[in-house]
Amino acid sequence: MGEPLSTIYALYFQIRIINALLLGIIWFLYLKNKRLPFEKGNFFTAILISSTANVICDFAITYSLYATYTFSGFLREILYRLFMITICLSMYFVHMHILTLCNIYDKSHRRNNTIISLPLLIAIAGGITAPIQINSGGDGIYSYGAVVNLEYITMGIYFFMSVVCLVINHKKLKKRKITNIAMGLLVWSCFGIIQMLNPGLLLSSTGIIILELMNFLNFEDSKVYINYENGCFNSMAYRKMLKSYFNGNKKFYVAQASFHEFHIIHGKYGHDICQKILRDIGNIIENTLGLKVYSVEEEVIGIIIDKNNYDEEAVRELASKIDYGFTFNASVIHVTGTIDVVYCPDEAESVAELEDIFSFMRMYRSSQQNFYRYDKNMYKEKERYSDILRILDNAINNDGFYMVYQPIYSVKKGDFHSAEALIRLKDNRTIGFISPEEFIPIAEKEGLIMKIGEIALSKVCEFSQRANLIGRGIEYIEINLSAVQCIDQGLTRQIKDTIYKYGLPYNFLNLEITETAATSSGNMLNRNVEALRDMGASFSMDDFGTGYSNLAQMADTQYELIKIDKSLIWCCYPEQRKKILMKTETEEKRDASITKSVAVLTKIIELINDLKLKIVAEGVETKEMVDALSEKGVDYLQGYYFSKPLQEEEFLEFLESAE
Ligand code: C2E
Ligand code: CA
Ligand code: CA
Repeated sequence: MGEPLSTIYALYFQIRIINALLLGIIWFLYLKNKRLPFEKGNFFTAILISSTANVICDFAITYSLYATYTFSGFLREILYRLFMITICLSMYFVHMHILTLCNIYDKSHRRNNTIISLPLLIAIAGGITAPIQINSGGDGIYSYGAVVNLEYITMGIYFFMSVVCLVINHKKLKKRKITNIAMGLLVWSCFGIIQMLNPGLLLSSTGIIILELMNFLNFEDSKVYINYENGCFNSMAYRKMLKSYFNGNKKFYVAQASFHEFHIIHGKYGHDICQKILRDIGNIIENTLGLKVYSVEEEVIGIIIDKNNYDEEAVRELASKIDYGFTFNASVIHVTGTIDVVYCPDEAESVAELEDIFSFMRMYRSSQQNFYRYDKNMYKEKERYSDILRILDNAINNDGFYMVYQPIYSVKKGDFHSAEALIRLKDNRTIGFISPEEFIPIAEKEGLIMKIGEIALSKVCEFSQRANLIGRGIEYIEINLSAVQCIDQGLTRQIKDTIYKYGLPYNFLNLEITETAATSSGNMLNRNVEALRDMGASFSMDDFGTGYSNLAQMADTQYELIKIDKSLIWCCYPEQRKKILMKTETEEKRDASITKSVAVLTKIIELINDLKLKIVAEGVETKEMVDALSEKGVDYLQGYYFSKPLQEEEFLEFLESAE
């Protein structure tokens, strides 16, 4: 080996080792923490890489001094040049990092960026070609000459520009960040001056590393962006990230995965298990797509994908994986989900608009699909939804509804003893006819249904009283209640007051509750039913046969009437069957199925008869149906065979002519 280490070499090595340790610590902390691109980590990574190169050169130089014979003068000169160039590079990246922190770096602004990098380019060119001398005299070993002067000037320029940038933009940054950067710059400049006065010390890399450390401290608050329950980035990070994408005029896709059974899992296993499942799914996404995952809402996670990196097939495949079993305490919880994808800014121009679209999609696309790409048609639906909402709002305030009445035929009495009241919108021009089947669910979702229910009820009662329907042989009017109405605390009061106001007997109303509403709503419904029943109102189970057909509930004697849904009846008749089932059904297959459907219907009618409940058959369109259903034991018939729903005057005329 070479000569024994002199004291000056020992000092050199100690400083180098401290540098390397400091740098190692920064690397470790930097890589350990999750980073978000909006934290402007790109230039920081560049600083770390160039300083690492710098420290390696520095080590090599020091080693070359002590093991002189293994290093040619030429190799050592190259090392010195590289050392100078990498230290300039680090300073350049520090400056760029500060520019991005102040939000004034714009990637697309080519000319500005070239101007900024000009001193660096000169420094690199000079670093390669300009003369360099190496002093190995008594005051230490160091390089000097044109290269060194050039690098000092370049670093001075970036230092100066960074200070100016900080001063101008100090309002944009948090105080803590400014202090950290300013402290870093101050320490760096002190080291620079000491270095200039004592060329033998070689302290400049230490200065840069301390500057890095101070910059790194600015990252520390990345913790506030993490959701520790599920390991994803949190919704604040998500929104910040989206904002930076929108502000950066980027083109990108946003995908949100939502899970269908989460409310059930939540209810059954609790919040923590849900979070564990999210963590699992987050990992699957991170591993397959290599992207950051954000926890957007309690049961939604999101990813943001640059346009150029978007691969629809990969996302589709990922979506098919979100149909998996989560093992918990020896039981397997099955989770299915849908990934919805929106392209920005073409389809959504702001975070708020994007969120609107996502919640709209979750409401409207089928949950059967595991991948849903937002499209313009859906947008039309969205437009239609808001149009309908506007029309409803307007109708509520400007008497925009009317009621129609569909007569109900009593088989035993051979006359029309009642009618079902159905609501209609007067506005048929703005976007054409809107069926209650379409606007009632919207009214429910938008919290308008109670108001509309009240209007419908008032209109029915007012008409019944004015036209003296009782005197014309109408025993009761059937009126529809939607699921949301059934569980509203104010329902009983509303109905009671209205009937009282028009002086009608309380048993004049029969309230239709759909089977699904009845099975899915709990106590509040029962309380409403009890109170209204005490008052004298009666109830029908509507749409029987479309839901879960809860026979237990049917036997629960809450209902006087069971309305068999038209779909159950129509599947027994070839013509009507076409309206609800595939048109392509072959004739033989159809005949066999019809035989079965008839058997089912017959049994259902028998069963309801056994329970001593009355039956209404809906959708009766032909004489054949009238005869068959009457024969099977159906009590009442309703349908186009007798009459479509009629407006007030027509309805009265109908009753008169039927007598
Ligand atoms: P629903 O209670 O099942 O009402 C029966 C529907 O079947 C009515 O449609 C009626 O016009 C139609 N219909 C009756 N007989 C026949 C027939 O022979 N052939 C055919 N093709 N159709 C027939 P409409 O009036 O469009 O009402 C749709 C749904 O909107 C109703 O279904 C009900 O759930 C809801 N709805 C209507 N009015 C109100 C209301 O005032 N309040 C609430 N909450 N919902 C209402
Ligand atoms: Ca009904
Ligand atoms: Ca029905």
